Amino acid sequence: MNRHSPLERIKLLNPEFPNKSTGIINGKSSGLLNWNDIAYPQMYDIYQTLLSNFWKAQEINMQDDIKQWDSLSTTEQDVFLRINTQLASLDSLQTPTMSQVMDYVTDSSFKAIFAVISQQEAVHNESYSYLLSSLVPLSEQNNRFNQAKNDPIVQKRNKLILDAYEGFRENPTPQNLFKLGVNSINLEGIYFYAGFAFFYNLARHQKMLKTSTMISYIQRDEMQHAYFIAQFIRILLAENPELNTDDNMDYVYKTIGHAVNLEKEWAHVILSEIEGIDLNEFESYVEYLANKRLRQLGLKNLYEERENPMPWIHIFSDEMINETKSDFFEQKSRTYTKVTQSNGFDEL
Ligand code: ZN
Ligand code: ZN
Repeated sequence: MNRHSPLERIKLLNPEFPNKSTGIINGKSSGLLNWNDIAYPQMYDIYQTLLSNFWKAQEINMQDDIKQWDSLSTTEQDVFLRINTQLASLDSLQTPTMSQVMDYVTDSSFKAIFAVISQQEAVHNESYSYLLSSLVPLSEQNNRFNQAKNDPIVQKRNKLILDAYEGFRENPTPQNLFKLGVNSINLEGIYFYAGFAFFYNLARHQKMLKTSTMISYIQRDEMQHAYFIAQFIRILLAENPELNTDDNMDYVYKTIGHAVNLEKEWAHVILSEIEGIDLNEFESYVEYLANKRLRQLGLKNLYEERENPMPWIHIFSDEMINETKSDFFEQKSRTYTKVTQSNGFDEL
């Protein structure tokens, strides 16, 4: 296989081939999915975890946040809306990208997971719209989306991801699929976190708790997506050793390092006036996340090893795994005291 030859869009049904595919790309596969007969049985666990996370925006009653909205400072409101539309923009890009990958992946179990991820990105996108519609009129929503589209720092951030995604759309080679995967990890596993930190910080101050409940559902999904895509890349490299080059490993470190710098830069723009967020601590947190993403890829840390420097982000998310869908932000004493590492969640 030449890593620069375009992948073919595969036929829907190939009856002469087995159901269990011979490869995640360029494989022989009938196109039919029997979960009992798949090449990587752990994919069924990932699929099940994604499904068990299922939620929808309307399950969260926004009344408390609607009442509280007017008591936020002008800066808090401004940052809230800027972050909301910027995160919605990322999810808008991820929905079609995850669907597009399905056309070229030849293992039906992976296609099914990409389909679920694409669906979840659509739910995230809708949930940001749901928040906006609860809080501000359509004219203001449109202003904010235009702001996100025209903001040079947002554009610079998105360019890194978009170049890789467009590269694959124009020329769907194995090499470009690899690059798309690395950039998806940045989108899913690094780019959301300045925004998430802002909402969790509000929650720490007992503000906009319903919003943060929704954000924590989104974060839980995104962590699973980043984890799955890391697994996808590892399998892609293992099955296609011609992709497993020094250049490509450099590409991973450089691209993740670049995303870390862009996330730090964005945090300085968006969070500098927000009380309760220490930007040095946030920078350390982004590096901590990057190390985690690299380890999921089976690679070495890019930054010094450290404990989670913003455990209040971890606590909220850790709690999510163990509890049912309750408004746990309001269960203050438990939320702040209970941290367990036992479920392996830390490696997500
Ligand atoms: Zn999303
Ligand atoms: Zn995602």
